[in-house]
Amino acid sequence: MSSFSFDLLRTSPLSDARLGVFHTPHGLVRTPGFMPVGTQGTVKGLTIDQVASTGADMILGNTYHLRLRPGHETVARLGGLHAMSGWDGPILTDSGGFQVFSLGSLNQVTEQAATFRSHIDGAIVVLTPEHSIEIQEALGSDVAMVLDHVIALPAPQAEVEDALARSIRWAARCRAASTRSDQALFAIVQGGLDAQLRRQCATELAAMPFEGYAVGGLSVGETPEEMYATAAITTPHLPVDKPRYLMGVGTPRDLIENVARGIDLFDCVMPTRNGRNGLAFTDEGPLKLRNATHREDQRPLMQDCECLACRHSRGYLRHLFNAKEMLGPTLLSHHNLTYYGRLMSEVRTALEQGRFEEYAAGKLRGWGYEPIPLG
Ligand SMILES: [Zn+2]
Repeated sequence: MSSFSFDLLRTSPLSDARLGVFHTPHGLVRTPGFMPVGTQGTVKGLTIDQVASTGADMILGNTYHLRLRPGHETVARLGGLHAMSGWDGPILTDSGGFQVFSLGSLNQVTEQAATFRSHIDGAIVVLTPEHSIEIQEALGSDVAMVLDHVIALPAPQAEVEDALARSIRWAARCRAASTRSDQALFAIVQGGLDAQLRRQCATELAAMPFEGYAVGGLSVGETPEEMYATAAITTPHLPVDKPRYLMGVGTPRDLIENVARGIDLFDCVMPTRNGRNGLAFTDEGPLKLRNATHREDQRPLMQDCECLACRHSRGYLRHLFNAKEMLGPTLLSHHNLTYYGRLMSEVRTALEQGRFEEYAAGKLRGWGYEPIPLG
């Protein structure tokens, strides 16, 4: 009996939007849902209580970073990622693949492994699919991700196909290496912007026993329209009774448009990274707090926002950023994650009430976008 299950509660008749609940050993994940990113075992600048108050059910940890510092064995001796960080809700860890290819100085990829140098001390690390699973089992996340071969796009077709085929073989090796019944394993669909490759990859992975499926390799510089089209051609080839996770995405608009195309879960550093840089998401679009127009503005970022930042004036928040006070990034990160959490909560309510498309169109127009027609 698996510790994991996904209840698909409702699918919209007017789009591919889905309402569901993903069950994990550390509790429920309501979908559509957004996962704040806790790269190094902490969502930057926020306490776990502050993160929980944004409505997040599941948070992310990064295998690459935690493998290098403090080391997965140290995390295990500190009781695992849940005990170490104090977050007792569901946690998802990535496989390390994306960071190896983007942060490490990569030495080589063979059929056996990706070999790279640590960006911290230059030590050589050999990351095999089996080692990625070993690290994630030591971290003790509820959801582990398979190691995939990520390449920079655009790339020659032969290179894309080679990386794709290797990613599927590595997914099978990860599945075979996984031993914890209390840890789900999600596969990752690659294939760049090529419809045929995406379909092929999704179909092959869907035939293998995974508890969920991710769409990877997006949010890497393609246009929003290309991203939405790729999600739309991929999700119909994934099992309906498993959660679907779009990795590294995105803006509030990206969340709404991809929910309409059948995506259930998202993660992105955008709310916290932008918050640290003085940018706040609102229903009228982003606000740059450093702008002089906010100097003596007594209004909060948003009326009726229950976050910690919206107890203060825009003028005060601007002052905190100009004075480089650490409270500024904390308050804006909390506002942005609260904004994302509320957006997903409103999406779920709209789905429940059968008015998702109407809700989505209103939200998109508030940000200055027209909804993009499906298919
Ligand atoms: Zn707020």
